[in-house]
Order: sequence, then structure tokens, then C-alpha cells
Amino acid sequence: MARIIGIGAGAVGLGTAMLLARDGHDVVVLERDAPPPSASADEAWTTWQRRSVNQFRLPHFLLARTRKILDTELPDVARAVEDEGGLRMNPLLQIPEEIRGSERPGDGEFECLTARRPVFESAFARVAEGTDGLDVRRGAAVESLVVDTAAARPTVIGVRTAEGDELRGDLVVDLGGRRSAMPKLLADAGLPTPVEELDDSGFMYFGRHFVSSDGSVPFALGPGIMHLGTITSLTLPADNGTWGLVIVTNAKDRALLGLRDPDRWETVFKSLPLVAHWLDGTPLEDGVVTISKIEDRIRTYVVDGAPVATGVVAVGDAGACSNPSQGRGVSIGMLHGTVLRDTLRSAGLDDKDEFALAFHEATESTVRPWFEWTRSGDRHRLAEVDAMIDGKPYKPDDPAFEMERALGAAATLDPGCLRAGISATLVLTPLDESLRDAGLRARALELGASWRDQPVLAPSRDELVAMATA
Ligand SMILES: Cc1cc2nc3c(=O)[nH]c(=O)nc-3n(C[C@H](O)[C@H](O)[C@H](O)COP(=O)(O)OP(=O)(O)OC[C@H]3O[C@@H](n4cnc5c(N)ncnc54)[C@H](O)[C@@H]3O)c2cc1C
Repeated sequence: MARIIGIGAGAVGLGTAMLLARDGHDVVVLERDAPPPSASADEAWTTWQRRSVNQFRLPHFLLARTRKILDTELPDVARAVEDEGGLRMNPLLQIPEEIRGSERPGDGEFECLTARRPVFESAFARVAEGTDGLDVRRGAAVESLVVDTAAARPTVIGVRTAEGDELRGDLVVDLGGRRSAMPKLLADAGLPTPVEELDDSGFMYFGRHFVSSDGSVPFALGPGIMHLGTITSLTLPADNGTWGLVIVTNAKDRALLGLRDPDRWETVFKSLPLVAHWLDGTPLEDGVVTISKIEDRIRTYVVDGAPVATGVVAVGDAGACSNPSQGRGVSIGMLHGTVLRDTLRSAGLDDKDEFALAFHEATESTVRPWFEWTRSGDRHRLAEVDAMIDGKPYKPDDPAFEMERALGAAATLDPGCLRAGISATLVLTPLDESLRDAGLRARALELGASWRDQPVLAPSRDELVAMATA
């Protein structure tokens, strides 16, 4: 079994490290930030500072793929999230039976297990602390790499921390999140850097958390993510009777920057008939928490059939990160963690080139399709918002876009279309896989053909701008 060094103890980092340690590897994870408080979910929420994770205070929702991986691979982590008050809910079964049809075998797959970010991450951290074969060292920032330049191909064989410690291992796993400095660390060590595909996804987030007085969460009258004209609403149930609400805008849409103000934010949220009732709770923050510059990025460590360096791989956001409003980050990252665990099982590390190629191929076939789907959706959504602001119709020449929007509209009329849409949304079954069913495709196109004519239940653009600037 291998000695593995992980850089970063975020949610995916810890999840991956636990998967590897439980497979018999000797795993050390180095994390720059402070540990979680040792007490309750409440304390994690109020006191834990995570300076290196910009989105730490923003609403998160964990999709069914994460729940499925936790239930099957890390059941004690699932229990720990629930012990902290985490919420198990099945978004499909919450939809009235007249729309979703009667329950079908397999509908249980859609169950999600979710909590606020500090709450679920502290639950992950607590289980990681007690995991045999896993040593999480906090307050340890990796500053440089140890490299074997005498090898046939430059190979990373360890790391050095800011505190001057040197650790050596068979594999270094970059778990450093969307701001990982790995390309710079490789360049500083004189090694080639991974190829990076970067889109400034250009969304801006304006979020707040709420809590109810009786531990309940509001009833959903629509999907957790809804495009409502030039804004998108997110309504995300969480632990202990809390939930997160977000308004997502195109970051270039300066007319809506006023949403930073809590009164304006509330006025706009109240004007959205399908989600206004989610305001019926006590805010957990005084202000609106914002984030922008959240790009889509994927890094490839194999170029023209050869690894750029061996002994190092990237998992989670450090490897691929996409538009967070879809809530896919932890799910895709945990999926990637299982891919790493399985590649170590099948290819081993005796031949590092062979391992690098095998992990690359598995990443391309498992992770990339989810990333590509998200990136394509982001590009369309940004262009659609731009067109709406300019008062023009958005009609790209892209059959996949038309099909996806038609399927969305058909979902309220056809239980099969509904399940195909939700299954992809929850990172369970890719949409193109479901759409291989010719009958489903035909129903989606027929029932959803008039998706452009559906009313948008939101204020007009002029009304929205007036509320955001008043
Ligand atoms: C606004 C926003 C909302 C989101 N909402 C959702 C959601 O609803 N659902 C969802 O599934 N995903 C969501 N995501 C994505 C999710 O947050 C990420 O996918 C997830 O955090 C990735 O986990 P990770 O462990 O790969 O990286 P991170 O959580 O970013 O952790 C990386 C860790 O590496 C550490 N680190 C970095 N460099 C070093 C170094 N040199 N030395 C030591 N430590 C280092 C950092 O301190 C950090 O702790 C959202 C993202 C954003 C931006």
C-alpha cells in the first residue's frame, strides 16, 4: 500500500483521504487553515474561520450523488452529518403525486443529505480525525514540492511546508480547491504545468441563511434552482431548521450590484412569487454574503498522451471546478475521489507513468462529462442573460440546449421526463444517457416544444433594476 500526501482538507479533500485510508493506504493531509471547533454544529457555524475557502459562508446543498457515495462508502460520515442535524430529503418525492406519478422502484436514489457548509465539513472532519491510517495536520501550508529530477520523467516525491517540514510519499494529491497553487508549485520546481481550460463563468452570488422557530424548512413550490429572467433563485434546505437563499446574477450586470444591500435583496426576493415564502424565518447573518470570480476550470495532467509530471494528481475543485449554482462541486469531487481510489486499486503505483495515464483516462470518462455539461450550461445561461438585458431573444444553434430546455418544460407533464431531469441535476445519470431513450426524447420535444412561451414568474427587467437600485 502507498504513502499518500494530500494537500488540503476541504470536504472533498477529507472525503477522498478517508476513502484512501480505508483502502489501506497511509495518508497524511496538510491543511493551511485552523481546525473546526470541537463542539456542536452551532459552534462550527458561528466560530469556524476558513480563510482559504471563499465560499465557506455561502449556502451549499449536497446532491444525491454525495449522499449515495457517503451511504455506500463512508456511512459513518453520513451518520455524523445527520447527528449534526443534517437533513435527509428526497426532492422528487416532495413533488405532488399528480405531477411525479406514483412512486417507482429506484426513486429512493434521489434522496439527498445536506447541511450548511461549516456543519457538514465539521462532521467530515470529526470522522476523519478518528480514521485509522489518516493523519490530518492543520495549520500546515505546503509551499514547495520535492522532485526527483533524475527519474526518466520528472516525478514529485514529496512536499515542504512553510514551517520547514519535509514529507515524502509515493503520491501527492492536490486537494487544494479552486484556488490551488499547484501549477505555480510545479513551475517553481522547474516542472511542466498542467494544461488549464478556464472560463470566467461570470456569475455573482448574493446569499443569506435563515432559521425557522420550529425546526421546519419551507415547502418548495418549484426546483431549488430557478432561472427567473435575468436572475436565478436558489432555495436550499439545510440542517437544524435552517436554509440558504441566493440570488445569482451575471457578474457583468452592474445594475444589480445593489443586491448587496439586505433591504434591496429582500425586496427582490419578495417579488418572486414561487420563492418569496422562503423569507419566512430569522436571518442568520446581518448582511448579504457575496462572491464573484467563480470560474469554470479543468486541469489536465496528461498532454499528447504523456503525463506532464508523475507522482502528482489533482482531485476535487483543484482538478475541475464549475458553476456553483448547480451545487455539483462536492458530488463531482467525491466521484473523483472514488475514481482515484479505484485507479490505485487497478493500476497501482509501481509504474508511475501507467498510473498517471490510467487516472487521466478514468477522469476523462467519469468526471469530464459532468464538467462539460455544466460548462456548456453556464455558457448558455450567461449568453441568455446578456441577450435578455439587450432585449433580444436567445436562440443559439444548439440542439442540446433546445432539448434540455424542452425536457425541463416537459417535466411537469411527464413523470419520465421529470425523473431524467432530476437524475442529471442530482449528478446521478448523465442527461445524454437518459436521452438515448428515443421515446423519452420524443415526449420531451413534443410536450416541451413551447418552453419559450412559458410565463416567467418574476418582475420585468425594469422592475428588477428599480428594486435593486432604490
Ligand atoms: C459560492 C459557492 C457555492 C457552492 N455551493 C455548492 C453546493 O451547493 N453544493 C456543492 O456540492 N458544491 C458547492 N460549491 C462547490 C464546493 O464548495 C466545492 O466543490 C468544494 O468545496 C470542493 O472541495 P475541495 O476539498 O476540493 O476544495 P476546498 O473545499 O476549496 O478545500 C481546499 C482546501 O485546501 C487547502 N489548501 C489549499 N492550498 C493549500 C496549501 N498550499 N497548503 C495547505 N492547504 C492548502 C485550503 O485551505 C482548503 O481548506 C460551491 C462553491 C462556491 C464557490
